[in-house]
This record gives sequence, structure tokens and C-alpha cells, in this order.
Amino acid sequence: MSTFQERYAASVMNTFGPPKLVLVKGEGAHVWDVDGNEYVDLLGGIAVNALGHGHPALVEAVSAQLQTLGHVSNFFTTPQQVELAEKLLELIGADAGGGKVFFTNSGTEANEAAFKLTRRTGRTHVVVAEQSFHGRTMGALALTSKEAYRAPFEPLPGDVTFVPFGDVDALAAAVTDRTAAILLEPIQGEAGVNVLPDGFLATARAIADEHGALLWLDEVQSGMGRTGEWFAHLPSGVTPDVVTVAKGLGGGFPIGACIALGPAGELLQPGNHGTTFGGNPVACAAALAVIRTIEEQDLLEHVSVLGQKLRDGLVADPRVTEVRGEGLLIGLDLAEERSAEVAAAALKSGFIINNATPQRIRLAPPLVLTDDDAKAFLAAWPAILDEAF
Ligand SMILES: *Cc1c(COP(=O)(O)O)cnc(C)c1O
Repeated sequence: MSTFQERYAASVMNTFGPPKLVLVKGEGAHVWDVDGNEYVDLLGGIAVNALGHGHPALVEAVSAQLQTLGHVSNFFTTPQQVELAEKLLELIGADAGGGKVFFTNSGTEANEAAFKLTRRTGRTHVVVAEQSFHGRTMGALALTSKEAYRAPFEPLPGDVTFVPFGDVDALAAAVTDRTAAILLEPIQGEAGVNVLPDGFLATARAIADEHGALLWLDEVQSGMGRTGEWFAHLPSGVTPDVVTVAKGLGGGFPIGACIALGPAGELLQPGNHGTTFGGNPVACAAALAVIRTIEEQDLLEHVSVLGQKLRDGLVADPRVTEVRGEGLLIGLDLAEERSAEVAAAALKSGFIINNATPQRIRLAPPLVLTDDDAKAFLAAWPAILDEAF
């Protein structure tokens, strides 16, 4: 009998390389593989499993909604869809009637919706940061900087200018009166967690205003409580025109959203865009359960406190040269290009972490990660580095 890994290789397209594990069960921040080994999941399905695995509130919401009404076409709406749109606008700080939401099934689709929305300004030029990641569909890929991802699929939609991340002068020079939008991740996740310098978003807002361009923030990874705030941009006080979210929104149930604030909410009109599954009541019920649980359990505070403890503990080893991030979106630089070895050693010790780049490790655990699990990881950390270095 061949293994699931062998059967995967024979039946699933090889877009991700060989899977590291075959997972069969999860509970809280723990998962188990097909051989019965237990792991602490410090990646959370890449910032997706906000409530961890098998959270009763999520299971109950999805099951109950599926039993009641599982899908309707977009000729109709449901209370769950309307409530989620209103809730997202409330969390982002929009006044009543101050914004509009378009629901999708993923992050890349949220960005496709936003990209099309920017075209409705009558302009096409978009200014994006280097090291950006906005998704793998053709539009989002056009806005993603990594050459290896782009090159095999060119020509991509054009009129995109990349500027160094966090470089005010480069941004000011790139934006003109024919720029439709500036697109930024407040914290770049896939790049290994790059945090924008203080004051940068306010400057970007001013540059956008000067040229009549939209400010679009991709919070697919940084949003929905991951940083200890509902959205990573909120502490800046800046009001963007468009915010895209996905990953943590449904806690593992696929859903994304393009949130447009103020007049930008009117740019997409009937016939301009659509999706069959986007905004279905099961996905919206999942997201409402995630948001309700974060509120009821005061998880934003927990995320801030635990994130700080993790960052302090991780940087204490000389083989770690820098630790960055907010809340439970954490990136660290190793003294050498050994992130693959470090991730492999962690896995052997029972911890799932991510080698985001050859020299950078990323953690994005469930927001419900316990103090004990965080402590166990910090206790194992020096031995993990010993094995990898
Ligand atoms: C993951 C991610 C995306 C793409 O989301 P998918 O759901 O994988 O399509 C887009 N932007 C950012 C910032 C991301 O982290």
C-alpha cells in the first residue's frame, strides 16, 4: 500500500513541492499526523486558523447554517451576509453608510475585486511595494513583485510601478496624476514580516490625496486580529479607500472581502464584477463566529501580550539577529541562511513554523495559542537552533 505522500505525488499537481506531513486531526493550536505524532501549530494554516482547529463556536456556526440554508445565488441575500458586511465596516471604523463590502472566497480574489475597482477611477496606473505578495491569479500576480512568480506568466496586466518598501521619496516620485491607486501591505507577510516605518501610511495617504489616487491596503494576512488590532493600519489613524482581507476572516472556512470606504464604495456598479460562491451564508456565518469569539474572549489583548513574549524570547539567542512583527505575526532573521534547517528541526521537535525566505522564519499561530504552548516553544528554541546550525 503506497503512502499518502506517494499518492499525492501521483495525483495532485506539483505546485507546492512534496507535503511535509499528512495531517488528520486538530484541536486548539495542536495537530496530529497520520502516524499519530502531535505538533504545536505555530503557522496556523498561514495566518488562517484564527481560532485554532475544531473550535466549537466555528463548528456550531457552520453546521447550524449549513443545516438551515447553505447557498443562495447573488440574486438573493441572507441575514448573515448583511450582518457580516455591517460588522466589517464597524470594525474598520466606518460610520453608518460610510463604506461597502464585496465578498470573495480568497485573498487573491479580494485583490482582483479591488484591482478592478481601481480601474473604475478611469486610471490604470498602480504603485506597489517591492517584496509585495498579493496573490497568484493574473491580476494579483501583476501586483506581486517576486520575479520567479511573475516571469512564467507574462504578459500580465501592466502599468504597475514597484518602489522599495518603506521608501517615502520613491513613493512620492512614482505617484502621478494618472495613478489610480497606491497598494501597500501594512505588514508584508510572505516576505518574512516587514513592518512599515512609523508615519509611512500617513505620508502615503497624503501622497495619494495630492494626486487624487486611492490608498489600498492589503490586510489579507495582517487583518482580522492577527496584529492585536482588528486591522494593522488602525493605530496609524489613517483612513484608506480600500482594504482587502481574507486569511483569518473565516478561521479556516474560505472567505475574503474587499472593503471600500467613502466614495470608493460606489466605484463598482451592477455588471462590473461577480462571484458565485462569494458571500454565501455558511462562509459569512463562519466569519461572524470568528469575530464574535475574538470579541467575547478578548483575544486582541491576548494576541498583543503573547506576541510580545514570543518576540522577547526568540531574540534572546545570538543566532537570531532581528525579530519583527506585531501581535502574532512574527518574523525573525537568522544569522545565516538556515531557515529550511531550522523549520525541519522544529518539526522534528513537534513545532510547525515557516521558513519564509532562506534566512527568515515566520510565525503566525492561532490567536488562541496558549501561554503554555508559547513557553514550550521558547524552551525548545535553543535546541532547535543547535540542531540546525
Ligand atoms: C495570502 C495572501 C494573499 C493571497 O491570498 P490567497 O487566499 O492565497 O489567494 C494576498 N495578499 C496577502 C498579503 C497575503 O498574505
